Amino acid sequence: MSTTSFVSIQNTELNLFADIKTTNHEQIVFCNDNASGLKAIIAIHNTVLGPGLGGTRMWSYSTEAEALNDVLRLSRGMTYKAAISGLNLGGAKAVIIGDAKKDKSEALMRKFGKFIENLNGKYITAEDVGTTTKDMEYVNMQTDHVAGLPESMGGGGDPSPVTAYGVYVGMKASAKEAYGSDSLKGKKIAVQGIGKVGMHLVDLISKEGAQAFVSDINKNSLAHASAEYGATVVEGDDIYGLDIDIFAPCALGAVLNTPNINALNCDIVAGAANNQLANEDEHGMLLNERGILYAPDFLINAGGLINVYSEVIGYNKENAMRDTEKIYDTTLNIFKVAKEQNIHAQQAAIVLAQKRIDDILSVQSTY
Ligand code: NAD
Repeated sequence: MSTTSFVSIQNTELNLFADIKTTNHEQIVFCNDNASGLKAIIAIHNTVLGPGLGGTRMWSYSTEAEALNDVLRLSRGMTYKAAISGLNLGGAKAVIIGDAKKDKSEALMRKFGKFIENLNGKYITAEDVGTTTKDMEYVNMQTDHVAGLPESMGGGGDPSPVTAYGVYVGMKASAKEAYGSDSLKGKKIAVQGIGKVGMHLVDLISKEGAQAFVSDINKNSLAHASAEYGATVVEGDDIYGLDIDIFAPCALGAVLNTPNINALNCDIVAGAANNQLANEDEHGMLLNERGILYAPDFLINAGGLINVYSEVIGYNKENAMRDTEKIYDTTLNIFKVAKEQNIHAQQAAIVLAQKRIDDILSVQSTY
C-alpha cells in the first residue's frame, strides 16, 4: 500500500457550511478515488418526500467551485420538480468532474456506484449530460439505486418522448390560459434545439396543425425537421425576434435573459430546457411585465422524471404517460395561484412545491 503525507487545505476562506446553510441542503458527499481518477460530488437537497433522485452529470468544470455550485443548484431544482409533480421523491443530483470523452472508464463508473451504494438508497442516480445508459449499467453493477436503465434491463428506456409529451400538454394548458382554447392548430411555434426532446415536440405540435419554426446547431436535425414536418429553419439568435405565438426553448439553460426577453415577440414561453430563466426573480418578473405567459420549466419538463419514477415503483409506461398528463391541470393551477398572489409563474410553482414538502413534513412528524 502506498502512503501519502497529509497536506492541509490551504484555502483559509473556505466557508462551505455557511453556503450550504443558505441552500438548505441535507447532505453533500465528496467522492475521491485516486486509482480511477474519480472526483465526484453528490448533493442531497431534501428527502422529506422520498429518496433524492437526480441524474449524474459529467462535465469539464473549470473550477471545483463551479462544479459545487452546479450540483447545489441542480439538486434544489430536482426537489421542486418532484414535489410539484406529486412524486414521492426528494431532490438530489451528482456531478463527476472530468471530460466525458476522455476521463471515463468502467472502473470510474463502478467506483462511483460504490459510493452511491454506501448511501443506502438515500440517493438514486440516472443519466444526465455526459453520462450514458452504458455508464448506468456499470453503476448498476455496484448498486441497485439506479434508474433510467434500458428497457432490456427492466427500465423505462429513453425518457425524452415522455418529457416532450409533458412539454406539449404544458404548452396546451398555457394556450388555454392565454387564448381561451388549448388548440395549437394554426399556431406559430418556434422550437430552439431539436434534439431528443425538441424533435418529439415538433412531431406532436405538427400533428396538431401548428406551424413549426426550428433552430439548432446541428444541420442534419434541421434538414430532418424541414423535410419531415415542413418546419421553417431559423438562424441562431433570430429565433428570439420571430413574430410567433409560442417560443419553446429546448436546448440550453439561461436563454431567458434581459436582451432575449426584450426581443421576444410571442405570447407564451413553454419549453423543455432546464433553468431557462437566467435570474429566477428578475427574468420571471420581466416576462410578466412584457405580458408573456411563462410555463415553469421544472414543471412542464417533468415527464422524464415521472417516467424514471415509474421505474422506481415498478415500470408501467401507461401510468407514466397518465401521470405526465396531469401537468396540464397543474400548469393551469399555477397560473391561477400566480394571479391570486400577484407573483410570477415560476415563483408560484416553487410556492406550491414547497407547500407540499411542508405539508408532508408535518404528516411525518407523528410516529
Ligand atoms: P439534446 O442534447 O438531445 O438536444 C439539445 C439540442 O440543442 C441538440 O440538438 C443541440 O444541437 C441543440 N443546441 C445546442 N446548442 C444550441 C444553440 N445554441 N441553439 C440551438 N440549438 C442548440 O438534449 P435533450 O435531451 O433534447 O434536452 C433538451 C433540453 O431539455 C436540455 O436543456 C435538457 O436539460 C432538458 N431536459 C431534457 C429531458 C429529457 O428527458 N431528455 C428532461 C428534462 C429536461
